[in-house]
Amino acid sequence: MSSLETVKVVVRVRPLLQIELNKSCQIVVDSDRAQSQIIIKNPKTSATKIFAYDNIYPQDSSQELIYDETAFPLIEQVIEGYNGTIFAYGQTGCGKTYTMVGNPQKEEQGILPNSFHHIFGCVGESSQNKKFLIRCSYCEIYNEEIRDLLNYDEKNKLELLESKEKGIHVKGLNLQIVKSAEDVANAMEMGNAHRVTKQTQMNERSSRSHAIFTIYIETSQEISGRETIRAGKINFVDLAGSERQKKTGVVGDRLKEAIEINLSLSALGNVINALVDGNVTHIPYRDSKLTRLLQDSLGGNTKTVMIAVVSPADYNYEESLSTLRYASRAK
Ligand code: ADP
Ligand code: MG
Repeated sequence: MSSLETVKVVVRVRPLLQIELNKSCQIVVDSDRAQSQIIIKNPKTSATKIFAYDNIYPQDSSQELIYDETAFPLIEQVIEGYNGTIFAYGQTGCGKTYTMVGNPQKEEQGILPNSFHHIFGCVGESSQNKKFLIRCSYCEIYNEEIRDLLNYDEKNKLELLESKEKGIHVKGLNLQIVKSAEDVANAMEMGNAHRVTKQTQMNERSSRSHAIFTIYIETSQEISGRETIRAGKINFVDLAGSERQKKTGVVGDRLKEAIEINLSLSALGNVINALVDGNVTHIPYRDSKLTRLLQDSLGGNTKTVMIAVVSPADYNYEESLSTLRYASRAK
């Protein structure tokens, strides 16, 4: 990623799942990695559309390749004291969590565990006169309400505050000190477990909330007798499913959910558009909790990667097209 680029948008196409192969689903999404293009075919009319991105990951792309090309350069900069954010965007079932967390049973580790090893690898190798303080937090935004996934309490909704010394922050959010890749992996698993329990209780709530895992890296170093501190952080955001929420016939909580998800995803799209545009003076961070919370890690001197995930299957055509449009607007 060049130093000029602050926002990078890439698309990952997942393979057909076994159940889709069994149903003989047709593939309607074609990846041209050389040209960084995605070609999508309407299964009814066979009309095609072409979209270009910063990078394309066809269905056989390994977790390592994605890590090396998207997260690796960001982590290097975070260790140097910059902020960064990686988003996974897309329809439920298209690979957001697979890309972020991975499939541990199959040793197909995603961006988060790979980052943990990368960070603690760098810390271990660095010179003696550097000291590191590494912390993590994990929160969820559901219906514009923020909850701590490391210290979960359904009744405890956290507030976003702005202060001189802390900037914009979530009041009361746990920042857990982590001393090894295992420590931070344990924290992530604990938070994921909270998301999963609720999933069964609250009907797939995890696909309707944004999960934000953040690693804070502070380095202090003595340079000619003076202590210099650098602080960077990286946010890993597994976004709520982008599928069109059914509004017809939906009332009450479900309608509220649908409206909030659409609002916050479009607010994020607007912020990213404005950042990419470069000529826009007003960046609408205040339009959602998500963009406000991430304000100091989006734009300016920071790096952002949006990974849009799509399914290649014919029956997902409409949703895949909508994800490709969102991602291409964000470019
Ligand atoms: P999401 O988080 O977007 O709802 P998941 O990450 O849970 O979707 O993926 C849905 C299913 O597809 C899971 O079984 C996952 O293991 C599988 N999957 C997703 N992406 C890939 C991929 N790139 N390669 C192999 N399997 C994948
Ligand atoms: Mg998921």
